[in-house]
Amino acid sequence: MAFKQWLAGALVGSAIVTSSVEAQRAPPAPTSPRIYIFDNGAISGLDPALFNFKREELEQVDFVNASYLIVHPRGTLMFDAGAVADGHFKGDGSTVVEGIVSATKPLLPQLAAAGYSPRDITYFALSHFHSDHTANANEFANATWIVQKAERDFMFADSPQGIIQPASYAALRSAPTKILDNADFDVFGDGSVVVMATPGHTPGHQVVAVKLANRGTVLLGGDLYHYPEERTTGRVPTFEFNAEQSKVSRARVEQYLQANNAALWIEHDLATHATLPKSPQYVD
Ligand SMILES: [Zn+2]
Repeated sequence: MAFKQWLAGALVGSAIVTSSVEAQRAPPAPTSPRIYIFDNGAISGLDPALFNFKREELEQVDFVNASYLIVHPRGTLMFDAGAVADGHFKGDGSTVVEGIVSATKPLLPQLAAAGYSPRDITYFALSHFHSDHTANANEFANATWIVQKAERDFMFADSPQGIIQPASYAALRSAPTKILDNADFDVFGDGSVVVMATPGHTPGHQVVAVKLANRGTVLLGGDLYHYPEERTTGRVPTFEFNAEQSKVSRARVEQYLQANNAALWIEHDLATHATLPKSPQYVD
């Protein structure tokens, strides 16, 4: 092939690449907040005793795994990052099984289907550092990481123990970071998206309250609770970092829910997520 023909072909090729990148530019900012819900698989085979329940006391034992993108007129907040790293999927649509965790859909293609790439994420927050929430955290290290000081200190301790995969979030160490000292944070400055400090399950667990124009206020609950039955019985899991702190955080959240007539989305709750549309649909 003559050099000129090759060059022409290469230029056409690069033009196509450019236009496909432009086609993936983030959608225009909405006029009010939206929440996209991503399907990050399931956890099955859990022992109810870990959560201080007998099997017959729970409606559903299995968990769903979810993560959320909040799109606000002034930016975006990604909350949690899935249980299976995108790099572990085979790309053929098959289900990845890792111990008691399984997932069929990688996260970033779901984000792309909604119109967003990790570059479009302004803020990133984890409910907490447990590995079923951090799998793709490194992808969001260009965003500003919103984290409680106690949580970050634990995550980057010399040898952190527990349900933790430090490699999955190692890039956050050098991310632009908004460190909170057991404090809430009004993310976009208008009170519509607020990260709330809810320590107990881990040293710096967080939830996010989102005021939606149509649906009203929604509270993304992380693992403040795992099962709805924890709300009615007051029981906490056996593996809380500090069970007394958990109870105080729960009482504060219950008060918030009541005062704001807000809905609680327990992140692992099957019944909650069965009724919610998945991305690229959204709630607003
Ligand atoms: Zn969890």
